[in-house]
Amino acid sequence: MSDTSIAFIDLAAQQRRLGTRLDQAIGRVLVHGAYILGPEVAELEGQLAAFCNAAHCVTCANGTDALQLVMMAEGVGPDEAVFVPAFTFVATAEVVPPTGATPLFVDVGEDNFNMDPASLEAGILEARRLGLTPRMVIAVDLFGHPADYDAIRDICTREGMTLVDDAAQSFGAAYKSRRIGALADYTTTSFFPAKPLGCYGDGGAVFTEDSVKADLLRSLRFHGKGGDKYDNVRIGLNSRLDTLQAAILIEKLAIFEDELAARQTVAARYAAALQGVNTVTAPRVNEGCTSAWAQYTLLVRDRDALAAACKAKGVPTAVYYPIPLNRQTGYAMHPTVPGGVPVADRLATQVLSLPMHPYLDRDQIAMITDAVRAAA
Ligand SMILES: *Cc1c(COP(=O)(O)O)cnc(C)c1O
Repeated sequence: MSDTSIAFIDLAAQQRRLGTRLDQAIGRVLVHGAYILGPEVAELEGQLAAFCNAAHCVTCANGTDALQLVMMAEGVGPDEAVFVPAFTFVATAEVVPPTGATPLFVDVGEDNFNMDPASLEAGILEARRLGLTPRMVIAVDLFGHPADYDAIRDICTREGMTLVDDAAQSFGAAYKSRRIGALADYTTTSFFPAKPLGCYGDGGAVFTEDSVKADLLRSLRFHGKGGDKYDNVRIGLNSRLDTLQAAILIEKLAIFEDELAARQTVAARYAAALQGVNTVTAPRVNEGCTSAWAQYTLLVRDRDALAAACKAKGVPTAVYYPIPLNRQTGYAMHPTVPGGVPVADRLATQVLSLPMHPYLDRDQIAMITDAVRAAA
């Protein structure tokens, strides 16, 4: 009997597909017992770097730590501005205030929800007006779609700023035929279970082309170790990826290419079925880009009504994100570009994400899109 219930993200289907390979991978770790930085960690780092054509991969405990390790590696500090999009998951901005630097919220574009280069330019002027040195840009590939790296890279080069790609949602995506991973000075990602490449707990990684910075990141993730672990040459973190999670990720990475292709199929079926439904705007993909489709996010005028209609038909939906960061209580004291972030403000009221995972079949997609059509 086929299961007609629809999961927003179906990790159980992936687990059934991987079958006993997961148990065997976990079993091997239990036998060798090297739970911290065991052989699977270095093996995974090599595979991840190869997957996205990056020179170095340094895994760590989660995607937020990946960003924090970059802050530490770059020595970001007081009187400096770090530009972050106002419309993202909170972790993008969360790592900035503890360094003493100021997060400055930049508006996003309506086309694919990512940092608007024109707004970034306005943010740089605002930072200077506030007496802050423009230091770093954290571009986010929201919902899996790459940010505008050519434009943002040019601005960073001109201003001498470090470019960080928060690719927590976009590992596996591509920008102008290049995989996300080597488009910025640092690329960070997350292996949180719900991300496109997720483990069974927390995990993260930093990619860089710079071997000196890669060594520094390896020291920082291990209490600032020097030659050995009881030689502490700097302040670091305890932020390593567990060997067990690395072993699980190796098995998941083996099917990831195939899963990315399945996500493209799901997105294409959604787009075809939603064509002509004029109450919703389906997500667009820029010329030359491939999304990792972490989310399939619509723009909807009457979001509450559509969410309720979907729910009534057994179709789960979610709102990512209901409040822009500049309006969050913990962040409202930090500056935004002059005039605020009107696009981020509007998106926060209109976004609605449909179920998205590689194991959605034709019938389920039809059921979901029928529910959206019926509500229209
Ligand atoms: C999930 C996420 C993070 C943080 O990753 P964790 O592994 O949960 O710490 C950072 N940035 C974005 C955009 C995310 O979606």
